[in-house]
Amino acid sequence: MHSIVEILMDKQGVMLETLRQMVDKESPTLDKELTDDLAAFTAGLFEELTGGTASIIQNDYYGNHIRGEFGSGEEQILLLSHFDTVWQKGDINGKIPFKIEGDIAYGPGVFDMKGGLVQGLYALHALKESKEILNKKVVFLFTSDEELGSPSSQKLIEEEAKKSNCVLVLEPAISKKGALKTARKGVGIFKVHIKGKSAHAGVEPEKGLSAILELSKQVTYLHNLTDYCRGTTVNVGKISGGTTVNVIAAEAEADIDLRVKTQAEFDRIIPIIKNLKSTTAGVVVKVAGGINRPPFERTDQVISLFNIAKKVARDYLGMTLEEMETGGGSDGNFTAPFAPTLDGLGAVGGGAHALNEHIIISEMPIRSALLALLIKELAN
Ligand SMILES: [Zn+2]
Repeated sequence: MHSIVEILMDKQGVMLETLRQMVDKESPTLDKELTDDLAAFTAGLFEELTGGTASIIQNDYYGNHIRGEFGSGEEQILLLSHFDTVWQKGDINGKIPFKIEGDIAYGPGVFDMKGGLVQGLYALHALKESKEILNKKVVFLFTSDEELGSPSSQKLIEEEAKKSNCVLVLEPAISKKGALKTARKGVGIFKVHIKGKSAHAGVEPEKGLSAILELSKQVTYLHNLTDYCRGTTVNVGKISGGTTVNVIAAEAEADIDLRVKTQAEFDRIIPIIKNLKSTTAGVVVKVAGGINRPPFERTDQVISLFNIAKKVARDYLGMTLEEMETGGGSDGNFTAPFAPTLDGLGAVGGGAHALNEHIIISEMPIRSALLALLIKELAN
């Protein structure tokens, strides 16, 4: 057994304890006081466990971000994690308490993605303990606003990706098989606004122009743009409009979610959505919005990176590592255009954003070892 695997197999208990501490420190994206507190705690842990240096990147509105640096070298490998969760303050005391049942740990953010974050910290810890010589430095980002689309960390993430040879994302693995994510769809977000004309629905309905009627036609049109063969989906996830039952609605709005596999498909479909045409004279249709996250495409470079991980998993851990694609976005979407990215290297479990959010405890040291050995391989 490789010394890194041995070191980490002995650490399962402390890893779980670190996870419990991180989960106890609740971190809803919009609670700056709480996320700042967890950021400071994470920075301390990073320095203590890895011997590296952590800098706090101050943030006005969202929680502070942390940039950890481990080892030295001209070239760098980037690790990505976020410590905010979709859960609210106090959820841990009732709605979703931290608890351990056999080999499963439940709690807010254990899977998405405090478990992966802890595994990342211990992976660097094991590299330090085993005195591995790395020829590249590792930059480890811990960000505070991923669950809201990374409004304040996107730039930082992209800047670091530009300087990196490759990016390893510690978001959860897919399914109990622990599959990595080698492609993620790009996400577009749009808002359609429709302006018609109000009128009394009983007295002079013919004088009105219903924005709701126009919206219903646009919704059908938009949903028909979905093309599963291309991997393109359009969903109108929210609509609103009108004032009351006996008035022809003057205004209506809809929120649209677009997912595509490639930038070429974005180039094809975005103009179609942006140029929606009104079907009724006098009714105005306006569309705002655009790309939220670029697609993370499965390029040849991504495939070679996955093959290295697959070989490491087989040679050192006797594991068959699989790859999958997902329609969900992550910060890996932001790095993929700049450096080959491998995602889903984090925790194995399930129930992200759900009350049964959980991880498999015995997978923690194994996934941590996979990451450490992969870094060792990539840093040679
Ligand atoms: Zn996440």
